[in-house]
Amino acid sequence: QTTLKSKDKDPYPDWKPGEPVPYAALCTTFSLIEMTSKRLIMTSHCSLFLRQVLRLTPNDLLPTVLLMINKLAADYAGIELGIGESLIMKAIGETTGRSLGVIKQDQKEIGDLGLVAVKSRANQPTMFKPKPLTIRGVHKGLIDIATITGNGAQQRKVDGIKKLLSAADGHSSGKVDITKDKGGPSEAKYIVRFLEGKLRLGLAEKTVLVSLAQAMVCHEIESKGSGKVPSTEKLAEGESILKAVYSSLPSYEVIIPAMLEHGIFNLRDKCKLQPGVPLKPMLAKPTKAITEVLDRFEGQTFTCEYKYDGERAQIHYVAKDSPQQYRGAEPAAAKTPTGGIAAIFSRNSEDLSKKYPDILSKLNTWVNTDTKSFVLDCETVAWDLVEKKVLPFQQLMTRKKKDVKIEDVKIKVCVFAFDLLFLNGEAVVEKSLRERRELLHSAFTPVEGEFQFATSMNGQEIDEIQQFLDESVKASCEGLMVKMLDGQESGYEPSKRSRNWLKIKKDYLSGIGDSLDLVVLGAYYGRGKRTSVYGAFLLACYNSNTDTYETVCNIGTGFSEAVLEELHSQLKEIVIDRPKPFYSHSSGNQHQPDVWFEPKYVWEVKTADLTLSPRYKAGCHEGVDPSGEKGISLRFPRFIKVRDDKKPDMATSSRQVAEMYRKQESVAKSKGPAVDDDF
Ligand code: ATP
Repeated sequence: QTTLKSKDKDPYPDWKPGEPVPYAALCTTFSLIEMTSKRLIMTSHCSLFLRQVLRLTPNDLLPTVLLMINKLAADYAGIELGIGESLIMKAIGETTGRSLGVIKQDQKEIGDLGLVAVKSRANQPTMFKPKPLTIRGVHKGLIDIATITGNGAQQRKVDGIKKLLSAADGHSSGKVDITKDKGGPSEAKYIVRFLEGKLRLGLAEKTVLVSLAQAMVCHEIESKGSGKVPSTEKLAEGESILKAVYSSLPSYEVIIPAMLEHGIFNLRDKCKLQPGVPLKPMLAKPTKAITEVLDRFEGQTFTCEYKYDGERAQIHYVAKDSPQQYRGAEPAAAKTPTGGIAAIFSRNSEDLSKKYPDILSKLNTWVNTDTKSFVLDCETVAWDLVEKKVLPFQQLMTRKKKDVKIEDVKIKVCVFAFDLLFLNGEAVVEKSLRERRELLHSAFTPVEGEFQFATSMNGQEIDEIQQFLDESVKASCEGLMVKMLDGQESGYEPSKRSRNWLKIKKDYLSGIGDSLDLVVLGAYYGRGKRTSVYGAFLLACYNSNTDTYETVCNIGTGFSEAVLEELHSQLKEIVIDRPKPFYSHSSGNQHQPDVWFEPKYVWEVKTADLTLSPRYKAGCHEGVDPSGEKGISLRFPRFIKVRDDKKPDMATSSRQVAEMYRKQESVAKSKGPAVDDDF
């Protein structure tokens, strides 16, 4: 607080009303946040800074929020830095006149590239005083780096980084001591960490969202000039509005300008789910038995659907003659044959339009004449044209991911639609599932092998469910999704892992309940037949509170020789010299993998059960081991598949691992209650 309120000396003389916000001011706030682990204090630093931006330079609010959440744009825009450690080291070396060898050595000793940049920058004599960096300048510089393609892209990216680094910190008078204050508010440190994809402030995106709501409420009341302080109720109201709006329309690019224009309290009316902006899908809770499902839904009607094993897809569409506007970036491959605009988004909000041109080209043949705009939740599944049935997920994975040409498509897909979120200009997420299903069925005409509604059954008896489960397995599905059918609770809850959707997988019925999606952190060289590849791997889950990856098992089972070769060629590209500072792993020498990797790949893994072990760190802050020394680990883990549709921070969370462990323990003793949580 003091930095912004100090009356004695203006800490940012360059920051005048309407002028671009100095990047140094944001770095000071980052540094204050980094020094605390208390969420309330983080929120207060964050919201105070955003208030100042709102007061002085509201035009910079959007890039400020984006830099705070370590993103350049909404996920669907597809702008990603994808810069590895080696390019960053090269840029630091070339900016500061230090050799790559010295930089690598520093990185070995310090283990945090951000701090290596600070050290390198401190050693460098400043010949001239560079123009101070601004938030909008840094944001633009980073976008430029991310969007460089074509000839000599790597070196041009390095040049872009050098441009930012050489303007960083040079204008500040004092030198930063890397041993003190985690490197202090150094601009170079935060630029490098942004490039690495981890600011390491412990600042969750949710905290930024809450801070933004608080800042906006305070600002609106302040600008009325009544001298009033916002009440707790008003602050809470602002927070709940912004959270609700963001979950249906997760795009700061759309929300922030609307909020500046209409105010936070009018946001619900101005910002609603709209075609073109993908929302985070609703997720299901795992269950281990049909009886568990019946207990959960006791006294309420539910419905069962086949659980198709393919890829989640959210299809957005606006017909040419629709009054509805298409928001968001217009995907290149997405003009439909009848002149409408359509896009397909992954579970991750990535644009899949270039992967599925075959779906887009046929879309309008499944749409009824009165259907002018929609957002559809569905699963794309590989389809056997001869046998007329669903093919295993592995077949779907063999499809090319980008720039697919319709004439080259060998693996045909069928779209299985299970939910409708928007229809003809109106968001329908708050309607009951029964009503949404009726709308879905009235808006489309299924075509076998191309577009079908998910097979469903509304029977409520255990025998009916068991029979339907058996049928789903015969139809090559993974099991069932059981969903609340009527009433408010059956509304679609974007981004939530809800107890109103339960999954029963065929192979849950024994074992721990669900497979896990884990991040590959390291590997061990193979022995015997496997000497030319990695033979085993170190996997981790993700702790979203601390923004760290916590080790959970070593795995060497479930891989064919061909898969091991493929994994080796992928992983050898992302080897790093030492573990990232945000890896939480055992320090014992005998437990170190032979090589470490950048956190990039997520694998699905099955396990027999979970156990406590001093060797792993998963969930060790979740209270499963009273001594806090042991983490949770997987026993007999087995590789299932690579999850291309998940980013590392979408891996199974430490909290979920702890929940699975507790459930297993309580099932062993009695029966545990189902817990609801926000994903
Ligand atoms: P999670 O993060 O919940 O573990 P996941 O991506 O690993 O999800 P699963 O655990 O297999 O996937 O189950 C949920 C997924 O099942 C959905 O994301 C969706 O892709 C798929 N699915 C298939 N059929 C249906 C259906 N009828 N209703 C909802 N989802 C379905």
